Amino acid sequence: MKLAWIGLGAMGWPMAKNLRQAGHEVRVYTRTAEKAKRHENEHGTQATTLAGVAEAEVIFTCLPTSNEVEAVARALLDRLRPGMIWVDCTSGEPEKSREIARMLEEKGVLFLDAPVSGGTAGAEAGTLTIMVGGDEAAFARVRPLLTALGKRVIHVGPVGAGHATKAVNNTMLAANLLAAAEGLLALAKAGVPLKTALEVINGSSGRSFATEVLFPERVLDRSFPLTFKLGLLAKDVRIGNKVVEGEGVPAPVFHLVRELYEIAKNELGEDADHVEVVKLVERWGKGKIK
Ligand code: NDP
Repeated sequence: MKLAWIGLGAMGWPMAKNLRQAGHEVRVYTRTAEKAKRHENEHGTQATTLAGVAEAEVIFTCLPTSNEVEAVARALLDRLRPGMIWVDCTSGEPEKSREIARMLEEKGVLFLDAPVSGGTAGAEAGTLTIMVGGDEAAFARVRPLLTALGKRVIHVGPVGAGHATKAVNNTMLAANLLAAAEGLLALAKAGVPLKTALEVINGSSGRSFATEVLFPERVLDRSFPLTFKLGLLAKDVRIGNKVVEGEGVPAPVFHLVRELYEIAKNELGEDADHVEVVKLVERWGKGKIK
């Protein structure tokens, strides 16, 4: 099957590689042309122009936000053909995705929102969780492609349902990171060794991905590798808030998390890693989690 991949960032780069390794012809396009050329040289894909993308049967996008997805969809619109499928792996906005889907449908193109969870390690290993919204027949057609990218590929509802699910998941991740930072900073100050505290918490009911993976592997050793930009997580939290507000659910926790991530983004910069949010808690609490 002829595939095209748009967006070769932290996630898109390894995901496009995995599709190629699964035996597909993959054309790649990204904002910086030399990056696409490098992907071609390293992984046997084919660097292309935006126009070249339109020759594929299935187009994937993995871009920062739905705004970039909409911009490339508009730029490609006149070249699209009935029967094509557009799979958007961006962590996008449900409402914007429904608009994009309607625009593409006029050209006979079906849109699936297919955001992913599992980070750059999951993208590299092909073990992502992929949550898909949209037409079930289109989902059935691309399912074999998605299984090259992830080990859990789940249809969650109509267009936008994937993006809504992803935004709720990431707002919970954002809340867990802050809650763990506050608690662990206090325990450090109280003289509890943090490895011991985490051993207890991770065998107890307060555990989360933050305590099981992020604190042991990135905070205690102060490595804070850049894998997922803080600005992108703040964007997900804003979308998560729109989702709960849109459904009329009172959500004081989600609102507070949104405010805190906006402050963190301003203080630490959009391009800091998301886990560096704990440094804000450390600044306010005058201590270190280590
Ligand atoms: P990056 O910032 O690393 O990559 C974004 C990519 O989009 C870059 O390759 C950039 O191009 C490209 N790009 C931006 N604008 C355009 C445009 N107008 N046309 C073509 N290409 C463009 O982001 P990530 O890969 O980290 O994230 C991508 C999406 O996946 C986001 O929605 C994010 O929230 C989500 N996500 C990220 C995870 C992570 O751990 N990083 C985990 C799960 C989801 P170039 O490099 O050429 O300049």
